[in-house]
Amino acid sequence: MSILQEIRTILEHEVRIAGPLVYLPPLSPQTRESMPHRDLFGDEPDAEADVSLSPYARIHALIPTDSPLHSMNTLDEVEAYVAKTVLIPLDEHRTNPVFGVGNPDADLMVIGEAPGADEDAKGEPFVGRAGQLLDKILQAIGFERADVYIANILKSRPPNNRDPLPAEVEAHVPILYKQIALIRPRLILCVGKTSATTLLNRPTSLSALRQKFHDFHGLPLLVTYHPAALLRNPQWKRPTWEDVQMLRRRYDQIVAGGMEVLS
Ligand code: URA
Repeated sequence: MSILQEIRTILEHEVRIAGPLVYLPPLSPQTRESMPHRDLFGDEPDAEADVSLSPYARIHALIPTDSPLHSMNTLDEVEAYVAKTVLIPLDEHRTNPVFGVGNPDADLMVIGEAPGADEDAKGEPFVGRAGQLLDKILQAIGFERADVYIANILKSRPPNNRDPLPAEVEAHVPILYKQIALIRPRLILCVGKTSATTLLNRPTSLSALRQKFHDFHGLPLLVTYHPAALLRNPQWKRPTWEDVQMLRRRYDQIVAGGMEVLS
């Protein structure tokens, strides 16, 4: 490793201790090209873990290498692919695929679990009672639905609103990784346990995940209660309010404060 690369590695470490949101500028393609393509143990470097890459490149690297998603460059292309492709049995039985909705350049992405009956009928996430509550939660911290981008882990409705099966998540979550890589949000809000434990790859209770920012391959990710759970448990509204205020404060620091995310 050259002295410059060593300094860069040390600085990156310092920057990550100070906070996961500040990144050094990316290495130039020439510098990257001249770097060894093997790690110290002779293994291929792992793009997901390579902190010199942007969060979006690292998240994109989670998509299986043989997926056609790799060659797609726009959300429209991905949406058309989802609409015509049967990846799991649920895709055959849906009324509509529920791809995602909102600002394609959003700084904030909100991620839920799977469409319900209302979403399946309309082809849009979070349009039922839980969706109306989500809109109110977002408005309480100054966002309109159209400001953010809303998507789910699954793009097709599971019958009787059962939990997604591991095989269904495995088949659909690469679509979400692609959406994140194309939208390039600065923050992610996971509503509910399924989206949080899927993205963070950690089978933990929701209460253990709340009230702190997690590092999702370089992007700050906050977890709060699912609005459907709030409809059943109104006593969770206050903790949700505390979570989303935390989200808004971090959003203002990053977006209004102009902190850089590696591009
Ligand atoms: N619940 C979700 O997680 N997503 C929706 O789109 C609707 C309800």
